[in-house]
Amino acid sequence: MTRTPLTTSLDGYEVWFLTGSQHLYGPETLAQVADQSRTIVETLDAASDVPVKLVWKPVLTDSAAIKQVALEANAAPNVIGLVAWMHTFSPAKMWIAGLDALQKPLAHLHTQANVELPYADIDFDFMNLNQAAHGDREFGYIQTRLGVPRKTIVGHASDPRVQRELGTWQRAAAGLAASRDLKLARFGDNMRFVAVTEGDKTEAELRFGVQVNTWGVNELADAVHAASDADIDALVAEYEELYEVEPSLRRGGERHDSLRYGAAIEIGLRSFLEEGGFGAFTTSFEDLGALRQLPGLAVQRLQAEGYGFGAEGDWKTAILVRVANVMGAGLPGGATLMEDYTYDMTPGDELILGAHMLEVAPSITTAKPTLEIHPLGIGGKEDPVRLVFTADPGPAVVVALSDMRDRFRLTANVVENVPPREPLPKLPVGRAIWKPAPDFQTSAAAWLTAGAAHHTVMSTAVGVDVFRDFAEMARVELLVIDEETTQRGFEREVRWNQAYYRLAQGL
Ligand code: MN
Repeated sequence: MTRTPLTTSLDGYEVWFLTGSQHLYGPETLAQVADQSRTIVETLDAASDVPVKLVWKPVLTDSAAIKQVALEANAAPNVIGLVAWMHTFSPAKMWIAGLDALQKPLAHLHTQANVELPYADIDFDFMNLNQAAHGDREFGYIQTRLGVPRKTIVGHASDPRVQRELGTWQRAAAGLAASRDLKLARFGDNMRFVAVTEGDKTEAELRFGVQVNTWGVNELADAVHAASDADIDALVAEYEELYEVEPSLRRGGERHDSLRYGAAIEIGLRSFLEEGGFGAFTTSFEDLGALRQLPGLAVQRLQAEGYGFGAEGDWKTAILVRVANVMGAGLPGGATLMEDYTYDMTPGDELILGAHMLEVAPSITTAKPTLEIHPLGIGGKEDPVRLVFTADPGPAVVVALSDMRDRFRLTANVVENVPPREPLPKLPVGRAIWKPAPDFQTSAAAWLTAGAAHHTVMSTAVGVDVFRDFAEMARVELLVIDEETTQRGFEREVRWNQAYYRLAQGL
């Protein structure tokens, strides 16, 4: 069997930079256009906030060349999107066929070569060369008229805000590219009787490109039970290196076999995922077959490596965890399955405690987790091993994906992870405690109004802006709960969206 280790990196991706013009100006001017657009690409590509390689393409001056480059971008697997800038004036009917054919995300960069007006020297030659201010308006018109989803970025290439906005959009495009490549393995079905983890897997493949399919859990159990003693020894040694392992689980400890079984789960799960080319998976505590423990430690570690995961068969959240892991590649922090669990309802100082039975990823902490074993009240299996830690304080976002019957809805809440007010000595799981924006009441009321799920992806690596760009390019509804949210305004937005998204899909 060939095994494909998962990659979670932006290194192999490219974004192409297109410059629009026309033949009218003659070869000398077009050479200047090319030089100036190359300089802009070099400036942006060198910026640390622009993570994906930006590739300059020859200046486009007619419909055939524009359509050709769109088709080439569609066909190139490593090209995750296009940036377009109309340096001079590019009559926009030339762009109709190309934009109509384009299947990759588009960013419209509205910029110009110079920062300041050369007041003393400006003449009409300069005006003819530097007219993006009106060339880009022509381009904006055709994009809007054709209904092309895109991000519009305004400002000079040297402006750090412009670089950040482009980088954010690139990360979203990488997330979309990863979801279009994603194969997701479900072990078992959704938790019995649960509504929100259900959904239309066929629509998900059309919308996000992800293939969601189910395998019998005993195929996984076979892979787990095939793990060799030597591989288990090596992985256990790695655990002892990386974590504070509780004494009973260490070599020679009375529960060491349970840790070895946890290592076997990781080895078997990894081999199953690599052999199938899967980037995400789900488990179900109600359907563990011959597995002796509910996978905890392995699931935590695989998410931290970049895999997507959803518990209780929740494939929609598994997609989000994988996408968020790719979007945050190379940044501090990470992405994990999270679940709103219980509250501190101290008036005016409310907090949300999020956790799961076992499966929160340690990528959201910089502390050394402890590796522990405790009974699990449900599932009827042996005690599972798990990593125990608290998320680092700092900004984060939680995002849920709900199937609203006629469409998918993303709901995002901007939150701030905070330290626990007191230790949590009897809560042996990975957990986070956060303050939701704009305040607890508004956040929870808006979340409930949106019909957003109790499972989320929590990202501490990227913020809500990346998800906003992702939603735009995937053409998926996104409701954001942040500092600007009011309950009345949010309710209106939900109501209007019902109509908008039905109309936008066609009648
Ligand atoms: Mn759950």
